[in-house]
Amino acid sequence: MRKVAPPDGYPPEKGRYARGNDFSPVAVCVILDTFDFTIPSELEELLMAGLDTGAALSGMLQTENIGMEKMICNIVANPNIRYIVLCGREASGHLPGQSLLCLMEKGVDEKRRIVESNAPTPFLFNLSDEAIERFRKQIVAVVNLLCEAGETDRSALGLDPEVVGKAVWSCFQEEPVQFKRYTLYDMGAYPEPPLVQKVVWKASKPWELAGTHKPQKQVSALVVYKLLPGTNCRDCGEKTCRAFASKLVQWMRLPKDCPHLLKPDFAEERSALESLLGMQGE
Ligand code: SF4
Repeated sequence: MRKVAPPDGYPPEKGRYARGNDFSPVAVCVILDTFDFTIPSELEELLMAGLDTGAALSGMLQTENIGMEKMICNIVANPNIRYIVLCGREASGHLPGQSLLCLMEKGVDEKRRIVESNAPTPFLFNLSDEAIERFRKQIVAVVNLLCEAGETDRSALGLDPEVVGKAVWSCFQEEPVQFKRYTLYDMGAYPEPPLVQKVVWKASKPWELAGTHKPQKQVSALVVYKLLPGTNCRDCGEKTCRAFASKLVQWMRLPKDCPHLLKPDFAEERSALESLLGMQGE
């Protein structure tokens, strides 16, 4: 079976991941759904499960643009990686999990936007077309174990380290094995040399090139919270209105993500929010 030694400088991008067996055909991608400095222990366990069971790389994906670009650079630099095990729970603000699945299925359009992604700024400005296309060809399957945003049940598929480990194990078997709805085996390296590229930083703030913008001034999450319905109904995917407010001020969510703000009764509040946050038209 063809395997390729990793090139000098591999992996080209730094990040919150661990390097395991370079000759393994699988990388583990754990969605990081918090912007706190500390990684939640249940997500750390998934990362370690990937590493312990033999993944080439096992790490966190937090954003649908720059984070995704770095992950792509590290994967196309190692042709041995043919699968991604996607786990954790979706990050309701950035939707990196959904964006990854859309990228694999649909690619990017002429504006470098990931087709059909629902994320706020799913643009890959900092990668070459070659890297994007190579990634889509080299990865033959994303084993999707991702849980819904906000999932806390650690026996759910995407939060269970044993399930993640079994998925990784399945990917490096010599003979095909069935794992959930996937038939997996190690088919050997992608038949082209490593593609070693780094992100080129045309856009460290992709929302700007995307025609959107972040608010120039710091807006208080408390002020924003007071304009929300305050029912904590969770229809936006956040546990509370306060959590939604804190993501609004970080440009991780848009007012329209709260379905109640779309009702006529909340037209004034929505308008005030958009004005406050500089999100008119979003
Ligand atoms: S959907 Fe709106 S009202 Fe419900 S929790 Fe989210 S922000 Fe609050």
